Amino acid sequence: MNYSFWEKYFIAQDTDITIIGSGIVGLSTAISIKESAPHMSVKILERGSAPYGASTKNAGFSCFGSVSELLHDINLMGESSCMEVVEMRWKGLKILRNRVGDEALEYKHVGGTELFRKNDVILQQKCFDNIIYCNELIEKYLGLTSCYSIKKNDGLDRFEGRSIYNQYEGTINPVSMMNALKKRCNDLNINIFYGVEVEDIDVTEKNIKTKHEVIIPYQKLIVCTNGFTKSLFPSLEVIPARNQVLITKPLKNLSLPSAYHLDEGYVYFRQYHDRILLGGGRNLDIQGETTVDFGNTPAIQTYLSAILDEIYPGASAQIDYWWSGILGIGPSKYPLIQWMDEDVLVGVRLGGMGVAIGSYLGEVLALKVVTSFDKER
Ligand SMILES: Cc1cc2nc3c(=O)[nH]c(=O)nc-3n(C[C@H](O)[C@H](O)[C@H](O)COP(=O)(O)OP(=O)(O)OC[C@H]3O[C@@H](n4cnc5c(N)ncnc54)[C@H](O)[C@@H]3O)c2cc1C
Repeated sequence: MNYSFWEKYFIAQDTDITIIGSGIVGLSTAISIKESAPHMSVKILERGSAPYGASTKNAGFSCFGSVSELLHDINLMGESSCMEVVEMRWKGLKILRNRVGDEALEYKHVGGTELFRKNDVILQQKCFDNIIYCNELIEKYLGLTSCYSIKKNDGLDRFEGRSIYNQYEGTINPVSMMNALKKRCNDLNINIFYGVEVEDIDVTEKNIKTKHEVIIPYQKLIVCTNGFTKSLFPSLEVIPARNQVLITKPLKNLSLPSAYHLDEGYVYFRQYHDRILLGGGRNLDIQGETTVDFGNTPAIQTYLSAILDEIYPGASAQIDYWWSGILGIGPSKYPLIQWMDEDVLVGVRLGGMGVAIGSYLGEVLALKVVTSFDKER
C-alpha cells in the first residue's frame, strides 16, 4: 500500500474514538456512540476490503438459544449467568430489528427448531423433560410466554419425529444486515477505513501501528476483532473457531419452514429461497477448527454432505458453494468486555449467536467509552 499524503493525513487525523474491526460489533458500537453523543468523532479501522471475520459469513439465524443449549450453558455457567447472556441476545435482536428494520434485514419469522437424531434418545428426553423449566426461565428473564413447545416434524423423516420449536426466533440475510449498518454509519459521518490492518497497539504512546507503516494516534480505542483478538492481546481468553458452511443449488419442492439446529447447536440449516444452507460440524474436529485461517476441509465437508442428504436425499450432489467464517469463543458464553488500560476497551467473544448479541454489546461498549470520556472532561 502506497498512501498519499492526503490519505495518510485522513486516516491518522485526530478522532475522539477509534474502533478496530468493522463486524457487527464495530459498526453497532460506532452507531451507538453517535446516537448517544453526536458531537463525538468516530472512525473504524478494518483490515479487509470488507468485513472479514464472521458478520457477513454467518448463517443468518436470529436466535437466542435452544433447550439443549440452555441446559448446557446452565451446567457451564449457572442459571442466572446463562440467562443473563440469553437476555443480552434478546435485547440485541430487538435493537437490531429496530435499528435496521425487518425489511432491510430480510427478517423471516420462521421460528427455531431443535431436531434430534434418531439415536439421540437420551438428549431428546432430557430436553423434553426440561421444557417447562426453560419456558419459566424465558418468561422470567425475557418476559416471553410459552417459548418452547414440542412439535411434530414434517418431511424430515431421517430425524426423530418430534422436535422442540422456539416460536420467537427467525432468520435474516447477514450481508443485508451489514449493508444497512454501514449505511447508518455513513449517515452518522462515521468513517470506515478498509485495508487497514492493525499490527500493534502502543498503550504508552497511545498510537496504533498498521501493517502499512501508518502510525495512527488514538484518544479512546475500542477493539472489536472477535476471533482475531489474540494477535493484538495474546493474554485474552478468546479462541478462534472456524465454521464451515455450504449452500446448495435450487432444489425442487424444498420445504423447510423453520430454522433448524441439532447436536446442541453445532449443526444448523435453513432454507434460503429454494436452496439449503447448512453449516457447522466443528465438534467433529475441534482442534483443526481452532484456527484463524479461512478454508474448508474434506472431513467436515464429508460430514456436512452426509447430513445434507439426510435433510434432502441426493442434495449432496447439488452443492453450489462452500465457505467458512471465524467466530470467537472462550471458557464462558459471556462476551469479553475488558479495559486493557484506561483508554483501551475490548469487546469480543460473541460465540455462535453474535447476530443477536452484537447490537447489545455495541450499546454496552459505547456507554462505557462515552462515560469514561465525559468523566475526564
Ligand atoms: C459460519 C458462521 C455462522 C454463524 N452463524 C450465526 C448465526 O446464524 N447466528 C448468529 O447469531 N451468529 C452466527 N455466527 C456468529 C456471528 O456471526 C458472530 O458472533 C458475529 O458476527 C461476530 O461479530 P464481530 O463483529 O464480533 O466479529 P467479526 O464479524 O469477525 O468482525 C471482526 C472484524 O475485525 C477485523 N479485524 C480483525 N483483526 C483486525 C486487525 N488486526 N486490524 C483491523 N481489523 C481487524 C476483521 O477483519 C473483521 O471484519 C456465525 C459465525 C460463523 C463464522
